Amino acid sequence: MYRTETHLHTSEVSACASASGREQAEQYKSLGYDTIIVTDHFYNGNTAVDRSLSWDKWVDGFCLGYEHTKARGDEIGLNVLFGLEYGWNGSDFLTYGIDKQWLKDNGDIINISVQEFCDRVHKHGGIIVQAHPFRKADYISEIKLLPEYTDGVEVRNAGNKEKIYDDRALWYAEQFGLTKTAGSDRHHIGGDKFYGVLTGYEIKDISDYIRAVKENDIAELYISP
Ligand SMILES: [Zn+2]
Ligand SMILES: [Zn+2]
Repeated sequence: MYRTETHLHTSEVSACASASGREQAEQYKSLGYDTIIVTDHFYNGNTAVDRSLSWDKWVDGFCLGYEHTKARGDEIGLNVLFGLEYGWNGSDFLTYGIDKQWLKDNGDIINISVQEFCDRVHKHGGIIVQAHPFRKADYISEIKLLPEYTDGVEVRNAGNKEKIYDDRALWYAEQFGLTKTAGSDRHHIGGDKFYGVLTGYEIKDISDYIRAVKENDIAELYISP
């Protein structure tokens, strides 16, 4: 089985993270992961990239976390793929299948609705996975669900403080027939809970993960011992 991290942050781009891209690559390599997907907080989330920059420059800054992670991954033999975590007033949507050029070409996405954003990602061939939909925290004022716009649900999130948040996410995924995923939401080096997905094939390109979610071809969720 091949193991993939679907949800992690870098300190270059996420204001709440302390691990740099290079450190994240090294951490996951040493833990035995085959692939990691960098999902830093987007413009509408807890970004560390200065929002007063021009859109082009902001996107360059946003992609640095991924680029540093990927450079180190290439050196040590770890697949590193691009994603992002789109914020909607406390609700978070992991987005896969878009890249730096797409972001630059879609400079208006920070001004469109979350539904339009999801539509545009889908039109481009990407997918949306809602992160920790039932987490309770100070920064989340309500539970917001978009089953018609969502391909998958993160039913195990290592950053969730209570098991009931994961149980409710599992219920949601099952009720709506959405693919179940797991992710560590890792912001730092160390910690005892590492999650991810296990597949019978290696996820080398983001298209491999998109297909896995769309076709519900994830063998098992990975939960560290
Ligand atoms: Zn964060
Ligand atoms: Zn996150």
